[in-house]
Amino acid sequence: MSAHSPLHLVSSPSEAARDDAFPLVAIERLRRNGRLAAPLPEALGGDDLCAPERVGDLRRLLTQVGRDSLPVGRIYEGHVNALALVLRYADPETRAALARDALDGHLFGVWNTEPKENGLTLDAVGRLHGAKSFASGAGFVTRPLVTARAPDGRSLMLVMRMKAGERADLGEWRVHGMRATATGTVDFTGLGSSDGAVVGAPDDYFRQPFFFAGAWRFLAVQLGGMEAVVETFRTHMRTTGRGGDPHQQARFGRSLIALESCRLLVAQAAETAAAEALSPDRVVACVNLARAAVDQAGLDVLTLAQRSVGLAGFLDDHPLEAQMRDLATYLRQPAPDFALTGMAAHVLEADAPLHGLWGAEP
Ligand SMILES: Cc1cc2nc3c(=O)[nH]c(=O)nc-3n(C[C@H](O)[C@H](O)[C@H](O)COP(=O)(O)OP(=O)(O)OC[C@H]3O[C@@H](n4cnc5c(N)ncnc54)[C@H](O)[C@@H]3O)c2cc1C
Repeated sequence: MSAHSPLHLVSSPSEAARDDAFPLVAIERLRRNGRLAAPLPEALGGDDLCAPERVGDLRRLLTQVGRDSLPVGRIYEGHVNALALVLRYADPETRAALARDALDGHLFGVWNTEPKENGLTLDAVGRLHGAKSFASGAGFVTRPLVTARAPDGRSLMLVMRMKAGERADLGEWRVHGMRATATGTVDFTGLGSSDGAVVGAPDDYFRQPFFFAGAWRFLAVQLGGMEAVVETFRTHMRTTGRGGDPHQQARFGRSLIALESCRLLVAQAAETAAAEALSPDRVVACVNLARAAVDQAGLDVLTLAQRSVGLAGFLDDHPLEAQMRDLATYLRQPAPDFALTGMAAHVLEADAPLHGLWGAEP
């Protein structure tokens, strides 16, 4: 693909047949089923899915969407994350205006990652300079929430008003998996803060525990991807009649343990993040525990499925082939070493006994 190459504006059935086509049909289905508005409070026309008491429903929905398609799960998770930030930090007028955009069907996303050189800045007169990289839904997300560094070094959140196809460069997204997410570079130079809405106060985006603990949402999506791999593994055993073999049973059993342990840890992380009843450090450690577990378990499940299904699973007409590439790619999230060691250091330093660390024992 060349720089500024045209986007693949194709839809089903071609969408299902190509793994680099943005999932327009699936996103349209989410829109039609009210899923794009669902994170909003009822008073703003939604289903209150971001409310702490609905965290289990949101978690299950993210896992379900990820199970059906990890690229769709990634896009939907970004949409939910952006609306959660808007609901938490925006003033009432901005919140209401952006809620109307969500109800009108605009797709949101969070674009924080940026190139080493040419990161996004906001100058003293409100002009934007620079770009965001690894921006999922580039060209399709019409309300991206971006972070931009102000002259005083602090970061502001802006939700930009963009048109479909505008400024999206997908030229470098030649990638192992998650090709359909249209993850690209978007240069905002020439636009200004008046082309969007400021959300919250400087550095609100990085406030803890919300910033790190929000990782539970991508874990829920990744869990769906793991589940899809294990389900395909199971189907393959059944259709090939190889499930009676003890080696296959042992590998399948280990996959199931990896999956179901992660389901419990992700549920615990989501509940702990939503309740915000523990200290910020402990909430983050609890989510990082789940991050480290899912990162390892995801890789384990991939290896076990590869060994059990064998070469058939690498053929491009086998469902496992794309599922494995998508999961392996999506498991790569920021600073996994820090997630593990930061959590371990926190627990090593904690005075509370292990059994009471995360609150009430289940
Ligand atoms: C499909 C997909 C879609 C994405 N969409 C978006 C999006 O819409 N918006 C967005 O903002 N981002 C997006 N991202 C980017 C994502 O948030 C992360 O920035 C990215 O995945 C980081 O991956 P990485 O493996 O390079 O991480 P890194 O953090 O660079 O980790 C790579 C390795 O280096 C280690 N490491 C990290 N820091 C250091 C250090 N200082 N010193 C030594 N070692 C270190 C890590 O522990 C790890 O072992 C997307 C990523 C993917 C895969």
